[in-house]
Amino acid sequence: MQNAAATNGAGASQPKKLEPLIYDLGAPGRIGVNLPDCDVPKTALPADLLRADLALPEVGEVQVVRHFVKLSKLNYSIDQGLYPLGSCTMKYNPKINEDAARLPGFAQLHPLTDGDGAQGALFLMHELQTWLGEISGFEAVSLSPAAGAQGEFAGILMIRQYHIDRGEGQRDIILVPNSAHGTNPATVTMAGMSVRELPADAQGNVDLAALRDVCAGDLRDRIAGMMITVPSTLGLFEATILDVVEAVHDAGGLMYMDGANMNALMGAVKPGQLGFDVMHYNLHKTFSTPHGGGGPGSGAVGVTAALAPYLPGPVVAVIEEENEQEPPLYGLVMPEKSIGRLKAFQGNFGMHLRAYAYIRVYGDAGIRDVTRYAVLNANYLRARLMATYKVPYPRYCGHEFVLEGHFDDAEDVHALDISKRLMDYGFHPPTNYFPLIMPEALLIEPTETEVKEDLDAFVAAMERIAEEARSEPETLLNAPHTAPVRRLDEVKAVKELVLCCAPALPIGARD
Ligand SMILES: *Cc1c(COP(=O)(O)O)cnc(C)c1O
Repeated sequence: MQNAAATNGAGASQPKKLEPLIYDLGAPGRIGVNLPDCDVPKTALPADLLRADLALPEVGEVQVVRHFVKLSKLNYSIDQGLYPLGSCTMKYNPKINEDAARLPGFAQLHPLTDGDGAQGALFLMHELQTWLGEISGFEAVSLSPAAGAQGEFAGILMIRQYHIDRGEGQRDIILVPNSAHGTNPATVTMAGMSVRELPADAQGNVDLAALRDVCAGDLRDRIAGMMITVPSTLGLFEATILDVVEAVHDAGGLMYMDGANMNALMGAVKPGQLGFDVMHYNLHKTFSTPHGGGGPGSGAVGVTAALAPYLPGPVVAVIEEENEQEPPLYGLVMPEKSIGRLKAFQGNFGMHLRAYAYIRVYGDAGIRDVTRYAVLNANYLRARLMATYKVPYPRYCGHEFVLEGHFDDAEDVHALDISKRLMDYGFHPPTNYFPLIMPEALLIEPTETEVKEDLDAFVAAMERIAEEARSEPETLLNAPHTAPVRRLDEVKAVKELVLCCAPALPIGARD
């Protein structure tokens, strides 16, 4: 996530009223648990493991429950309200997916279980590979990458190996538009290739003339491919994408699509049919899974037949066709020229399960509706906010859009102040200062799971804030006023998390 605005952590200034630590609660003799009778012989613990000064609280069950429920309420979550964090797709995750992921037969399956004992799980992964291939128009899919960025890494390594195998190892440049997600240039560098940045044109598309110049220039024989985020981080669909694909293919390069945000495309457009050679999906965005706080993800990759032998492994394949008596037998295989493993075992299987359940419950018509509503909601918000905020690229957007969080007649107020004030109105802030090519960017992604009333409430808050920016700018500059802490040091807050209170301190010494 780009934005740590709502996170509690180090660097906090001006704490309002913090909850007391659990260590400050309770009184001697209060007990919150009933332990069963001891059914083993009692024995003395080794003296060197015992501490006399361990200040553990003595609290009853009700106190403990209330304490932690109060703490949990200090956190903002998607189950509480709109979470329009652009590019992150913080949408409602069906609870049934969580039930599915906890089914004991799946949750307790040991990753070393042999093929015979894991046919159900392998079948599920095989189905998911097939469906993802179908949704995006690709020949083959590997589920092994653990995150979007790792899927990108896999994709660029595949492109690199493909060129090396064809005797074109000198191809070491990946073209990256300036509207790409930040992970894209980072991936290229990690994979040992060089980035060549491309500008955007006045409409926010890749500048086609600039691209054609590069493709026809001195670097032509060094172009390994292009990595493009669709829709771009401006939330815009690339209007000239077919020309872009053609120019890069003509130069001998392959096309990588950052498909983290397939909720703008699925059911409507198949990247494989647009001419892309490889793409990653973010199962933890488009296909649901709670993913705040960097929780486990899955960055599956899809490829054309030409790249299928390079996929990271293992992938699930039918190793014995079905016959009249037996269903097909599934097994794990390493593709012939695989770039190798990126993750232990089979990747994050729990994410595969949730994505499977998500697609299965929606079906193809439902998947198409997800896209239609995600795009409709974003366009509705954009259209309603255009009267109050500057929208730098006033054209239909995909699943998200960018606003300028700054007003010419309220100079002191910046995008960050608007975001902080939104917290007072009960909304999670949008993504701030990203994409980088847009000054004062607020990247807003409502997602398909919001109803009109909630979108309208967000518009009303944004309109109030625009008024406040002129009439009482200090209210914005000092926001948030309702959160447990005010402005955090945004860097320290994520680098120096305060995850535990200090039990070593004597009670009361904390202040
Ligand atoms: C989220 C995102 C990524 C990175 O995915 P991670 O799972 O966070 O590594 C890459 N590209 C785009 C467009 C994204 O939105």
